[in-house]
Amino acid sequence: MTARIIDGKAFAAGLRERVAVAAAEVASIAKRKPGLAVVLVGEDPASAVYVRSKGKATVAAGMESFEHRLPADTTQETLEALVDRLNADPAVDGILVQLPLPGHLDESAIITRINPDKDVDGFHPVNAGRLATGLEGFVPCTPLGCLMLLRDVLGDLSGRQAVVIGRSNIVGKPMAQLLIGDSCTVTVAHSRTRDLPDVVRRADIVVAAVGRAKMVKPEWIKPGATLIDVGINRTDDGLVGDIDPACAEVAGAMTPVPGGVGPMTIAVLLRNTVVSAARRDGVTLSA
Ligand code: NDP
Repeated sequence: MTARIIDGKAFAAGLRERVAVAAAEVASIAKRKPGLAVVLVGEDPASAVYVRSKGKATVAAGMESFEHRLPADTTQETLEALVDRLNADPAVDGILVQLPLPGHLDESAIITRINPDKDVDGFHPVNAGRLATGLEGFVPCTPLGCLMLLRDVLGDLSGRQAVVIGRSNIVGKPMAQLLIGDSCTVTVAHSRTRDLPDVVRRADIVVAAVGRAKMVKPEWIKPGATLIDVGINRTDDGLVGDIDPACAEVAGAMTPVPGGVGPMTIAVLLRNTVVSAARRDGVTLSA
């Protein structure tokens, strides 16, 4: 058996098209384009690449991109003042502060300062609480993208055994909340989990968000399981995920790296931004 390869790139392209239609709908009713502000502090090359591609994708979807580049020695006060300005700016529907911030800045204070209703990254504690309690809010882009792929492949997820490996605030925990919301039976594994292979062996759905190259092995996989690989690891063999590609011999379906979860993250960010604009302008989207 060879697993079906889940084409995240194609799914993300379709989502971006739907977002562009929704953005045009908001623009024609509200007489303004949805706007995403992205803040980059410092010169980290990987972050600069992410910010550039977010800006391009935003414009390609028919939305306004506001880029704010600040020097690495920016003070907490200056950054907080910028966040306050963006919170108050009616042209801005979404605010994203690119992480990680330089070490002298208080990341958590900045995230908490963003208006939760413009927090399209879904990192604000208010949005984490909304997700945990089933209220409408913003969900972090990567796990929401994973959920969209799972629903696309499997349809109804209810009653399935899901194992999430990783418990970070940006991937593992919100992923677990989303799967609970879809009525899966969820286990969250992490670095202290005993006998991880045995835990994974029970899973119909495995989401790996660890950051260890090819850690999940074919012997761990229940035949036919669906595998979602969030991991991005730069190795001598190039970019690899947390799931050994040999798992394709056992799994029913799995995401590749690259071309699986990665392209979903920006597409969901655009989706969250257009949803924010529609909410703020009272526009009901047709799709
Ligand atoms: P973190 O480093 O914040 O979290 C990693 C998690 O993995 C922790 O909960 C840690 O456990 C757990 N872990 C570490 N070692 C093991 C182990 N041996 N066995 C089981 N669990 C272990 O990472 P993120 O959640 O931010 O990201 C995870 C991966 O996803 C990274 O490769 C990152 O690059 C990638 N990523 C990809 C994105 C995309 O767009 N595709 C977006 C975001 C992240 P503990 O809590 O006990 O320390």
